[in-house]
Amino acid sequence: MKKISRKSFFKGLALGTLSLPFAIRFFGGKNQAQDQTPKLSTDRIYNWKMVTTWPPNFPVTGEGCELFAKWVEEMSAGRIRIKVYGGGELVPALEAFDTVRSGAAELGSGAAYYWAGKIPAAQFFASVPFGMNAQQINAWMLSGGGLDLWKELYADYGLVPFPGGNTGVQMGGWFNREINSLDDLKGLKMRIPGLGGKVLERAGGAPVLLAGGEIYPGLERGVIDATEWIGPYHDYLMGFHEIARYYYAPGWHETGSALEFFINKKVYDELPSDLQTILWAAALRLNHWMLCEFEAKNNLYLKKLVEEEQVELRFFPREVLDQLRLYTTEIIEELTDRDPFAKRVYDSYRSFRKAAAQWSELTEKPFYDLLQTI
Ligand code: CA
Repeated sequence: MKKISRKSFFKGLALGTLSLPFAIRFFGGKNQAQDQTPKLSTDRIYNWKMVTTWPPNFPVTGEGCELFAKWVEEMSAGRIRIKVYGGGELVPALEAFDTVRSGAAELGSGAAYYWAGKIPAAQFFASVPFGMNAQQINAWMLSGGGLDLWKELYADYGLVPFPGGNTGVQMGGWFNREINSLDDLKGLKMRIPGLGGKVLERAGGAPVLLAGGEIYPGLERGVIDATEWIGPYHDYLMGFHEIARYYYAPGWHETGSALEFFINKKVYDELPSDLQTILWAAALRLNHWMLCEFEAKNNLYLKKLVEEEQVELRFFPREVLDQLRLYTTEIIEELTDRDPFAKRVYDSYRSFRKAAAQWSELTEKPFYDLLQTI
């Protein structure tokens, strides 16, 4: 592909001297280096199924899948039509990954830590306890090499991953007893996925992985004693305040959890390059939209929970968090000792986090300290 500067690219666009195929190659599609001519097809209609881990018509996360489908259909002028299935509608929620691998559905939506049982390294693409925030995770994914590692990992499973939203820092969860020391976590049956669940286990608790739709009945019936979910906006909609008394901060286990789309790689590779680019554009738009939704609404709903629903807000004691952080380091070391790919991913994550933390120390941290005085 002929080299062109961004300035002359935008000038070309403004003057109408650049063609759509050129624009597609500039922003990326498949194999730009090898493909001198992008594959364009305007006649074929793709009718796809998307299986999700979210309950049917679920606010924000499920809603996001519907938005993604709408945007893809609009941008492709109707050439890709996606029917979204909530968890349990076509297949059980946590079978979405294997369903897309098999080709029974073309794409899926979830969070990479749901697949930790079969792919331990996947967890780093969703959430790392005491890890990076949403802004840093997006930067690592899109500008720091994270997404390339994620693509490499999922390629072995016949899938292509896309960033599919971020929750921002979550809350620590809903409890019916106060957590004053590590002893209060012993024997606690808590819905908590991914590495956070392993950390709870080391602290003497019993982590349980339940999909979103199973949590409320599980907590109500005593299958679990406690649960984490996302944050005030979504947790309010889930109704957890009706069956749990204490709402704990912070979400030490999910400091900016990334959600995902995954598409069957064979389906993706056979697409014309303009449609591949459209999928990326829609995924990145959703990635941004979701974080904005949570950021805009969390504090409003926290007020509702505390002032209207009399939820008791609590903070985990510092010594509990310090110990959980030590367990996190141990667990990640054990995982990366066993799994060379997990080590590659975590080395990348850790070095990016270190650099981001140093920058934040100078910029974000003093800024937040100042905000507290306003
Ligand atoms: Ca969560």
